[in-house]
Amino acid sequence: MDMNIGVIKGDGIGPEIVDEAMKVLDKTAEVYGHQIEYTQLLMGGASIDVNGVPLTEETLEQAKKSDAVLMGSIGGDAKTSPWYRLEPSKRPEAGLLQLRKGLNLFANLRPAVLYSELKGACPLKEEIAEQGFDMMIMRELTGGLYFGKRSTEEEDGVLVARDELTYSETEIRRIAKRGFDIAMKRWKKVTSVDKANVLDSSRLWRKIVEEVAKEYPEVTLEHMLVDNAAMQLVKDPAQFDVILTENMFGDILSDEASMVTGSIGMLASASLNDTKFGLYEPSGGSASDIAGKGIANPIATILSAAMMLRYSFDLDQEADAIEAAVEKVLEEGYRTIDIMSEGMTQIGTKEMGERICSYI
Ligand code: NAD
Repeated sequence: MDMNIGVIKGDGIGPEIVDEAMKVLDKTAEVYGHQIEYTQLLMGGASIDVNGVPLTEETLEQAKKSDAVLMGSIGGDAKTSPWYRLEPSKRPEAGLLQLRKGLNLFANLRPAVLYSELKGACPLKEEIAEQGFDMMIMRELTGGLYFGKRSTEEEDGVLVARDELTYSETEIRRIAKRGFDIAMKRWKKVTSVDKANVLDSSRLWRKIVEEVAKEYPEVTLEHMLVDNAAMQLVKDPAQFDVILTENMFGDILSDEASMVTGSIGMLASASLNDTKFGLYEPSGGSASDIAGKGIANPIATILSAAMMLRYSFDLDQEADAIEAAVEKVLEEGYRTIDIMSEGMTQIGTKEMGERICSYI
């Protein structure tokens, strides 16, 4: 297969971790007989330094022409970086928001996996951590409360604030379909999370999700109220496969799920639209405190590259090979500083990338 991948190395540790993910992609392409062409794109602080803005129209157009985009992280230290003396709309993060909007990325995917080798980092009780978990949170990203009308007005001498929560049938259907598509590549279970006992938007969510479920007879659907879901994530996370939910609930639950894995350097993510295109990036930030030291954990970016092969190119076998190589290196006791524990061998960013490559 010929793949045309846009690459945004980004700021801070971004270039270091993306280089390792590219090495792993190159090795995978070599072993499985694919051709990859990379197009380097500037976004965030790196783009401000060169172009004066965090994202140019040309970069957005180039990103649209790619089959998928792999990204490191963007941004810098808000206290010391000159990028943060610019007005908010010109700062690095504004580039990411413009990119997501320009590419119509309405679905955010965040896997939360507890590797048996990293159980010690899990803050849950030992008997829960012992069971492990491997879930995928699919969050609607462009609708709901965060994008509704808002106002703060004085009424009869008191301030009243309003935030509107709107979801259309179309918005719910397109994210639900993506959720069920993802479940078909996993254990074929979708837990749709809502607050249908209170909210109209949730009652519509539930109705449309049930309609979509009929198109996927192999997938088991269950509904869960968001307050229960928050509890179940810490009580019995092993029960989940795909969690499908709206924007605000997903924002909160995906952070909760990340926390129970215990390590930010291991967390991949993807943002998808209704084509095969996706933007793949680690969940962590640009970690300027450790940038340039060669110690950042590249695994989240490497696992994001594996997600790219799986979801944008349907190369499941190749994605499995990358995930298995990551597990193998962990099994052998190699760790970057963020996941280091007693008795393990500490290695740097490059060595981690190379060791993972050696198992593909
Ligand atoms: P951060 O994720 O960059 O760092 C938090 C802590 O985790 C730091 O101690 C850091 O050293 C550590 N860490 C993060 N990734 C790591 C890795 N791969 N390996 C080892 N350690 C790792 O969060 P922050 O400090 O709040 O944010 C720093 C900058 O990143 C800010 O400018 C923020 O806006 C930006 N940011 C960008 C994205 C993105 O690009 N999508 C996401 C989050 C934050």
